[in-house]
This record gives sequence, structure tokens and C-alpha cells, in this order.
Amino acid sequence: MKEVINISEVEKTFEQNKIAVRAIRGITLKFYPGEFTAIVGPSGSGKTTLLNMIGGIIKPSGGEILIGETLISQLSENQMTEFRKKNLGFVFQSYNLIPVLTARENIELVMELLKTPKTDQRKRSSDLLESIGLMDKRNVKPAFLSGGQQQRIAVARALASYPSLVLADEPTANLDSNSASELLSIMEKLNKKEKIMFIFSTHDERVIKRARRIIVIEDGKVKSDKTVKSTKKR
Ligand code: ADP
Ligand code: MG
Repeated sequence: MKEVINISEVEKTFEQNKIAVRAIRGITLKFYPGEFTAIVGPSGSGKTTLLNMIGGIIKPSGGEILIGETLISQLSENQMTEFRKKNLGFVFQSYNLIPVLTARENIELVMELLKTPKTDQRKRSSDLLESIGLMDKRNVKPAFLSGGQQQRIAVARALASYPSLVLADEPTANLDSNSASELLSIMEKLNKKEKIMFIFSTHDERVIKRARRIIVIEDGKVKSDKTVKSTKKR
């Protein structure tokens, strides 16, 4: 990734039955190019809310989020949609592939929306299908793939148009431990190869161990933020 993400004193309060729920209570963080970060915390701690604000899906109640030079909290709905298409990739807990499209077509969809020339789309989807080890499933629809395979397609789809950042909200929550481990290996590989920044949330110990930076949040605040020293083994 080419851009730094600067989150400054961000807050989010939801109204629910006239009661204010303070989901995020003043978070300041910076993310740097190439990082591979886990956002960790118990259910209800604010992980999804934080990721959704970084992705511009919801707006903060206070504070600012800068991605590179763009103050995303100030973009209109349309500007945000455009910004998202060009700069961000998303991976969801529930895969969210389009059922009527094949694996390859799912990967190419964002490039199609960006009007990328067809030959470039093909080249990119082929490279990604190789990277995720699913070239042989390229013409198969999601219903005929396992959860782990669908999530690998979802990762490829998120990366297709060379975003600055991939956001993944509990991407392994529905996977068995083998598939979860495989998915992390693919994410790591693509993070290194393509230098695309990943921020993913999880509360799975085995997934947490694979991150190079671990940010623990609790009650909407950062409790700790540790970068794992790189070792020869990594
Ligand atoms: P996590 O992803 O860590 O489980 P969330 O970000 O989903 O946590 O939620 C943080 C807090 O905000 C929780 O108390 C949750 O109930 C509340 N919350 C999240 N989204 C909404 C919403 N749309 N309306 C009201 N409260 C919400
Ligand atoms: Mg969540």
C-alpha cells in the first residue's frame, strides 16, 4: 500500500431506543504501508464499527480518518463509493460472493465496474486464481465450493483492482482451523507479494498469532498495540 492511514480521536455513538451506545470512545491510530494487522477484542468491543469507519461504510460521530490525502469522513456518499472501488478491498465473515457468477467472474467484478480492459481482467484474475490455488475451480459457482474456498475467492476479489488496503472483518469466523490457517497463509503471501496493507479483526488465538501487529480493543478503546519483531523465521 502506498498510503498511510491516520485515525485521529475517532468516536462512534449509536442511538438505540433513545439510548446512546458509545461503541468507539476515542481511538487514535496510524497504519503504515505493508502492515499485516489484527484488531483483537471480545464480542461487542467495537471491532466491526472501527473497520466499517475505516472503510467508509459508516461515519464517525467525532474525529477524523485520513487515508493518504483523503479525509474520508468528509466524502459524500457518491465520492465514498468511488473512493472505495479504487482504494479498498473488503472481506466479510460470510464470504458474500455473488451466487450466479463463477469464481473467476466474482474476482473480475470490481475490475468490470472500473472498466478495466478485458485482457487485463483475465490476466489479473488468472494470477490471483494461481495465488489462491483455485485455478481449477475458475468456472465453478460459489455454491459448489467449500467455505474455505469461497473465502479464498473473496480475498482474491478484494485484491483484484490493486487496492491500498484490504479490510477483513473476522474472515475466519466460519472456517474450520485448517481452512483458517490456509486462508491466513494466502493473506500473508499476498500481503508480502503485492505489498497491500491488511487490517483484519478476529478473536481466534491461532489467527492472532499470525499477525505482525496486534491491536487489542476493549470497550471501544485501544488497550494495547504491539508490533511483533520480525524474526528470520517469518
Ligand atoms: P464487535 O465487532 O467487536 O463485536 P461491534 O463494533 O459490532 O463490536 O459493536 C460495538 C458496540 O456497538 C456493541 O455494544 C454493539 O451492540 C453496538 N452497535 C454496533 N452497531 C450498532 C448499531 N448499528 N446500532 C446500535 N448499536 C450498535
Ligand atoms: Mg464484529
